[in-house]
Amino acid sequence: MDPVIYDYGWGITCIDTMYVQPGRAACYLIVQDNRAAFIDTGTAHTVPYLLEVLKSKRIPPEAVEFVIPTHVHLDHAGGAGVLMEKLPNATLVIHPNGARHLIDPTKLVMGATEVYGAENFMRHFGEIRAVNKQRVFTAEDQTTIKLASRTLTFIDTPGHARHHFCVYDETSKGFFTGDTFGLSYKELDNKNGAFIMPTTTPVQFDPDAWQSSLDRLLEFCPQNMYLTHFGRVTEISRLAKELRQDINRYAEIAKLHAREDGRGSKILASLTEYLHQRLKDCDFTQDIDVTTEFLRDDLNLNTAGLEVWLDRLDKQSRQKVNE
Ligand SMILES: [Zn+2]
Repeated sequence: MDPVIYDYGWGITCIDTMYVQPGRAACYLIVQDNRAAFIDTGTAHTVPYLLEVLKSKRIPPEAVEFVIPTHVHLDHAGGAGVLMEKLPNATLVIHPNGARHLIDPTKLVMGATEVYGAENFMRHFGEIRAVNKQRVFTAEDQTTIKLASRTLTFIDTPGHARHHFCVYDETSKGFFTGDTFGLSYKELDNKNGAFIMPTTTPVQFDPDAWQSSLDRLLEFCPQNMYLTHFGRVTEISRLAKELRQDINRYAEIAKLHAREDGRGSKILASLTEYLHQRLKDCDFTQDIDVTTEFLRDDLNLNTAGLEVWLDRLDKQSRQKVNE
């Protein structure tokens, strides 16, 4: 199958990673003066598409200087090890908290198997290969790198995960946001434009940190946000406002059910109800049941992540009492 790509100008190409199904997860190729970088990689199943895109753009694999997963969740970084083996001159650029997981992916595989189940794991992610330590560069907050004449700046953005950075591209005044600017599937576009929602995947959701990370992104007055799920959005201030509200609402929903029996299913039901309300508010015309089904995996993951967060809050407050 041919790769599905979207060219945005400024040498930026969005590539569908074909994770689970088309339109679910993207990664990006940036080309500047015949030098190239990938931001996010998809999974091992994605790598043939990435090599095909390079070929179609007449970029030899030797010209790829950087492979940059925004964080180490496997829909973003699962293919990094396999991809690096195909790109002899590339350096892997990663958040300091993520590096050890790509150098030795054992824990990452274990964690993801717990979240997704063993059967889904192989189907979704395929093989996970370690990246040679010598080829890894950790980017602290505000680190800049040069892709030919182009400057990329790394901003530490905890909230979705503590191993997450966003990458600012001065040339297009845009951020590669990974999961920090939420999810915006094209299937949910409506009369207001793009639809946004948070992704509170296990195990490091932190609503306060997330709000601060959004503050930092917005300080740049970005004109483009390149989301992994899925593609570019441009109405930054409206979407940021909605995402901020949603993050707070998600945390409230979790806390509301924290002490109830059947906590997980109650959180899931409330998240689903909230989603329906949000869709109604923008006169969403598609079938709501079909849309709920489309978002089933995300709703389940968000619920699981909120539960992990509640457990963490509990543990922290118990520790305080014991002090
Ligand atoms: Zn993630």
